[in-house]
Amino acid sequence: MRFLADGMLGNITRWLRLLGYDVKYEKLRNDDELLSESRMENRILLTADVELFRLARRRGLEAVLVKEHSTVEGLSRLSRKLNLQLTVNHERSRCPTCGSPIMRVEKRLVEGKVPDGTYDRYRRFWMCTSASCSKIYWRGSHWKKIKQTLEKAKKMK
Ligand SMILES: [Zn+2]
Repeated sequence: MRFLADGMLGNITRWLRLLGYDVKYEKLRNDDELLSESRMENRILLTADVELFRLARRRGLEAVLVKEHSTVEGLSRLSRKLNLQLTVNHERSRCPTCGSPIMRVEKRLVEGKVPDGTYDRYRRFWMCTSASCSKIYWRGSHWKKIKQTLEKAKKMK
């Protein structure tokens, strides 16, 4: 299952990538471009725009209308519609920033690339596999919040 998200869905895009889904995020495309990209690349269109959603459906494309009132609602809705797994597995996770796969890296490789306090406190680190991004991730203090959000979204079902 692969997705194409419109420019209003940056937040949901990051969440889906964290969950391991392949999401292409297009900030600057117009409706026609989004529709043809969704068709050509066989990606489910995620949009916050009712008109675009209807247009996609009329053209026989798979699309989901996502209103981003809250992350919990958005994730819950997507999970109901598409049977998404709302569980983070870092073996599958993608970089929330660029969408490339991330991979576990040895701790010593991130020395000097993350704040000293972080380096001392955490054992496990992951790095984005895209050379132009190379962002480093760890299960920091925000991790608890991520899990809480996902739990809430699961319960909304
Ligand atoms: Zn990245």
